[in-house]
Amino acid sequence: MHKHHRALGLATAPTGIRCGADIAQLRPAQPVTLLRPHAARRAARFFVEKFPGRSLYAVKANPSPDLLRIVWDAGVTHFDVASIGEVRLVASTLPEAVLCFMHPVKAEEAIAEAYHEHGVRTFSLDTLDELDKIVSATLTDGQPATDLNLLVRLRVSSDHAKLSLASKFGAEPGEVKALLFAARQASDALGICFHVGSQAMSPAAYAEAMHRVRDAIVEAAVTVDIVDVGGGFPSWYPGMEPPPLEAYFAVIHEAFEKLPISYSAELWCEPGRALCAEYGSLIVRVEKRRGKELYINDGAYGALFDAAHIGWRYPVRLLRGTDSHVRPLEFSFYGPTCDDLDHMAGPFTLPGDVQAGDYIEVGMLGAYGSAMRTAFNGFATEHTEIVDDEPMASLYGAVERRRSNVVRL
Ligand SMILES: *Cc1c(COP(=O)(O)O)cnc(C)c1O
Repeated sequence: MHKHHRALGLATAPTGIRCGADIAQLRPAQPVTLLRPHAARRAARFFVEKFPGRSLYAVKANPSPDLLRIVWDAGVTHFDVASIGEVRLVASTLPEAVLCFMHPVKAEEAIAEAYHEHGVRTFSLDTLDELDKIVSATLTDGQPATDLNLLVRLRVSSDHAKLSLASKFGAEPGEVKALLFAARQASDALGICFHVGSQAMSPAAYAEAMHRVRDAIVEAAVTVDIVDVGGGFPSWYPGMEPPPLEAYFAVIHEAFEKLPISYSAELWCEPGRALCAEYGSLIVRVEKRRGKELYINDGAYGALFDAAHIGWRYPVRLLRGTDSHVRPLEFSFYGPTCDDLDHMAGPFTLPGDVQAGDYIEVGMLGAYGSAMRTAFNGFATEHTEIVDDEPMASLYGAVERRRSNVVRL
């Protein structure tokens, strides 16, 4: 019914373009992660060229060293790291990268190692206790550091986001003044940061958060050198088609220009999802069909954690040798482990005659997909293949291309 179904063995893409169908044709018994370096490069270039400030890559979204190098080669020089493990990983993969330790609750040993051994100078915090920790972990011969960039994390609303980050971190309005004041004394550069929640579906999320930044600066009457609007930039998923990223950038730029800050103040952002969602997809095999439930060989403990635990929907397409003319149906998936929780409700729309032995490509899994994979129950896989066809959706191509690549079966 759709040209993507004429997959196996028959040329679906222009000659020389390698795609998921080429891999499915080999009938892999394990799930295969497909990587699209060109898509990650395009996303990184987009942020580097169009965001009206500096873009940090939030490493937790996908810490693959290959991806770190792609993002670096595309011009991203600063990395948002949240654990000593991420500090070590990026420091060893990209020795010249600038690391920013943006988790507001850190172990003192982690701060000390990051500062003294890896040259980390930028830290976030949301309490006076954390500030004390940073100050004492960065002493040298009993002397306080004079080269710290400290970013105070504000609590902001996650109302526009699909995944809330509003309850765990962030100083409350009543605490911000004292915190900014104290951080100013301990820092070389002082910043304010926030996170509007992941997959923010409206630029208004940033406009509202910037109001909070403005109030905080006015109330504390301190000089602020860095305003960091965090992550939350969306990608495309079924039922979640966001406005263009340029609309977010415009809102952020306008709000930044109106802040009472010095002319030389810097604007930062920390995209995770938006930089890497298009980088990866996954080929799974149907091992069994029971009505409208498909038992596939990856799931909640593999790359589909979000699909199982928070009902995230991903685009899917069938990779099969013959055309399907059967009416599409909405399916749910079971993953391979023995656990009932290993269930992805979807719905995932596929041709009604999908059956055991068929291969399905699940798209847009470059962010928070393989990064969450475990080996629970013996279902581990590391098989990856590089492909050069377009991701199943793209925020970065022309609109026409974006539409034609969204496979709605
Ligand atoms: C997770 C996280 C990000 C990335 O968020 P996305 O929604 O993936 O863009 C950025 N900054 C911080 C502090 C985070 O915790």
